[in-house]
Order: sequence, then C-alpha cells, then structure tokens
Amino acid sequence: MAKADYYEVLGVERGASDDEVKRAYRKKAFEFHPDRNPDDPEAEARFKEAAEAYDVLRDPDKRARYDRFGHEGLGGNGYHGFSNADDIFSSFSDIFGDLFGFGAASRGPRPTQGSDLRYNLRISFRQAAKGDSVTIKVPRNVPCHECNGSGAAPGTRPETCRHCGGSGQIVQSQGFFRVAAPCPSCRGKGQVIAEPCPECRGAGIVQQVRELAVNIPAGVDNGSRLRLRGEGEPGIHGGPPGDLYVVLYVEEDKTFRRQGQDLVHTIQVDMVSAALGTSVEIPTLDEPEKLTVPKGTQSGAVFRLRGLGLPFVNRGGMGDLLVEVVVTTPTGLSRRQEELLREFAEIEEGKVGKKMKNLFKKAVDKAMGG
Ligand SMILES: [Zn+2]
Ligand SMILES: [Zn+2]
Repeated sequence: MAKADYYEVLGVERGASDDEVKRAYRKKAFEFHPDRNPDDPEAEARFKEAAEAYDVLRDPDKRARYDRFGHEGLGGNGYHGFSNADDIFSSFSDIFGDLFGFGAASRGPRPTQGSDLRYNLRISFRQAAKGDSVTIKVPRNVPCHECNGSGAAPGTRPETCRHCGGSGQIVQSQGFFRVAAPCPSCRGKGQVIAEPCPECRGAGIVQQVRELAVNIPAGVDNGSRLRLRGEGEPGIHGGPPGDLYVVLYVEEDKTFRRQGQDLVHTIQVDMVSAALGTSVEIPTLDEPEKLTVPKGTQSGAVFRLRGLGLPFVNRGGMGDLLVEVVVTTPTGLSRRQEELLREFAEIEEGKVGKKMKNLFKKAVDKAMGG
C-alpha cells in the first residue's frame, strides 16, 4: 500500500511554515488522540500517521529529503516509524505537555472553586410581603483548625507521594495507548499523610455550623432564590469559596391569594346589600380600608385598590389589591321578609307586564301606519 503524502496527512501546503506544520499536527493529534478515541483502530492509525508526518516535516533535513525524493528519500536512513504511543509522547513532549495536561500535572493541583450550597427556608406570607431578616444555621465544611487543613497531625507534614512523585497522576501504557490515571497510592492528591490529624482524621476539613443573617426583600415569591456570595463550601487549593443559595418557600395565607405582585381578597355581600349598595371594611397588609360597593353590584365583580398589593422586588412600585365580590342569597327568611320579597317580585312582574304592553302597542301602531 502506498504511503500517504505527509503534507496531505497534516492538511498543509507544501510550502507551509514550521509554525503551520506544528499547528496542523496539534489539531490532528488532538482529534485522533487515543484518550478521545478509545478502542478505535482507525483513529489509532491516523494518530500514528500524523505523528510520522510531523516527525519528518518538523526536521529541515528530513523534510528536504522528503521533498526531493518522497518516501524513498527517508528509507532506512533516517526514519523508521513509531512503534507505540510512548514513542510519540516522548518525542513530542513539548506539544503534548500543554495539549493534554501531562505537563500540567507536575505543576501541582489546580485551585478549584468550592461547591455551591442550597438551603431551603420556609417563611410566612407576611415575611414575604413585608421583608424580614432571618438567622439561619448552615452546616458546611471548613478547613480543620487543628492542622490548618493539611490533614497531618500537628507537628508533622504531609509527604510527597513516592509513587507518583507528587503529580497525583500515573501514566500507564496499555498496548499502544497511554493513559493518565489518578495515583492509587495518594488518590490523586500527590501527597501522603503518615500520621493523620486526630481532629479531622486526615481529611483536612471539619463540619461547622455557621449562623448567617439572611435579608429577605419585601415581595419575594415562592421559589425565589437569594444568593449569598462566598458562603458555600471553601475553595480547594486556594480557590475561591462557592456561594450559598437560599431557596424560599412561602406559606399560604388565609386572607390573601397571590397573583404575581397583586393580592386577591374575596368578600361576601348579601343580595340586598349588593342591590342597594353598601360600604365594606377590607383587610390590607396594613390598616383596613373602606370599600364602597355601589348599587347593583353583581356577583363576580372585582374592585381594584391601587398600590395595596406587594412591592416589586427588583424595580419600584407596588401591585394592587383586588377585591372580588361574591353575592350571597339569603336563607331562613322570616315571614315578614318573605312577604316583602314576594311584594318585590310582584312589582318586578308588573314592570315586565307594562313593558310588554308598551312594546305590543308600539308594534300595533307601527302596523297601522301611525
Ligand atoms: Zn485536621
Ligand atoms: Zn501518588
């Protein structure tokens, strides 16, 4: 089988600069890297092929010979192919160092931000409406004060792991593939503790309950999240701490129902008061308010009391208080009340009768041409 052209393998022009060749190889190596293509013989072949091409084209001598004589020019004299991945990794360590992190491991563990924490807080409807300051107790992990987080007993120090030389990683060859894995001896920490700290049993962290003041802004709703910056788990290896999210659960209220920032309150008005009009006292979040229910109010009517709802949390302004009227029908009437209602009904019928007569008269007049 004819060998593929090295320039085609890397996807560069014949006149490509050293830098272009290097960049092209990095791209190919990344694409076909064994770690990203496990158990893929095709990728393995392409990975080897790219390495071979790069090995020739990066070397001015070899490249000149290849340009003049092709693959024949290299026969036996210079290049004899890579036998396995270890060859490739050690030949191009300058590229793989920053490409795949094998070099980074020796620089020690990276600073990592601590985890975010979640705290569920149940509050009353009134606390949500008016805002409040609440003290919560949050258990969280902090560096052990006995060993300053090292995990080693006071007076001793963690030692560099001999198995991995402190990198926390070991690189194993599995046939052609080279695989980086956490060091089993130190579990990836790079250090071993001969004598663990008695306070934290070598973990370097202890649990502590902290009291935190949480300011609940007025107008928050069920499910609102408050973020307390830096109050999460501490960072690792000098990283910043995580955040604490307080998730609010607002209890239901007997007096008010919530619609966004509006409040809804339902009142019952008896039929006669609804017909004649009345004045009703309405509860609000503060002092009660007088509401005039006008003559002839129907069941289901809604009156809006502006600005008596809940405050908007992130912008100014207030929602409204909506008063919903339910007209009730009287029961258990006295004899006298019933008499009056019957009389009322007769008058209503009379009105209807008169109206009908008038309509009939009008129709007759029209027919007669009057
Ligand atoms: Zn400790
Ligand atoms: Zn180790």
